[in-house]
Amino acid sequence: MVTSLRAIRSDITKLQVDAIVNAANSSLLGGGGVDGAIHRAAGPDLVHECRLLGGCKTGDAKVTKAYRLSARYIIHTVGPVWRGGDSGEPALLASCYRRCIELAEQRAVTSIAFPSISTGIYGYPIELAAEVAVKTVRESLAGDSSVREVIFCCFSPEDLSQYERVLNRPIL
Ligand code: ADP
Repeated sequence: MVTSLRAIRSDITKLQVDAIVNAANSSLLGGGGVDGAIHRAAGPDLVHECRLLGGCKTGDAKVTKAYRLSARYIIHTVGPVWRGGDSGEPALLASCYRRCIELAEQRAVTSIAFPSISTGIYGYPIELAAEVAVKTVRESLAGDSSVREVIFCCFSPEDLSQYERVLNRPIL
């Protein structure tokens, strides 16, 4: 079966999906942006579980329960800080998406929502990040995946139009 990839504009904490991805920082103890919103919505038990995980490296991901959210899991990943593009940022960002899909598949997740990792406080240009996100998710899903639905959850209309541009382009 083919997995559907689409972009929507929403608050990721409100989505009815099996797993949501958090754009966390390496401490996994909460922060601003989408990380703060997820911790607020999930409640204080989330940070207790996160404390047990011992942090997370840039480009890697770790899974927790989702507590008060309707999702089953939160997959926390740490995107790269944008330093101009020559410091391995594209490979690290791709690794985030790849690891999240791997962990989702290990838990038989059928639907997953990603925020636009690294494009907020971490400064990754959205037009470049959207390309990496869509390309890497498509490549990671090749084969027999449990994941049937991927949602790129954008917070601003500008971000949504960037994802739609990439998603609607013919695949060469
Ligand atoms: P990073 O540190 O990885 O850049 P941010 O949280 O600063 O992470 O930003 C990542 C993206 O998440 C940005 O596009 C930001 O606008 C968006 N964002 C912030 N809050 C939410 C939310 N509640 N739901 C979905 N996206 C959000």
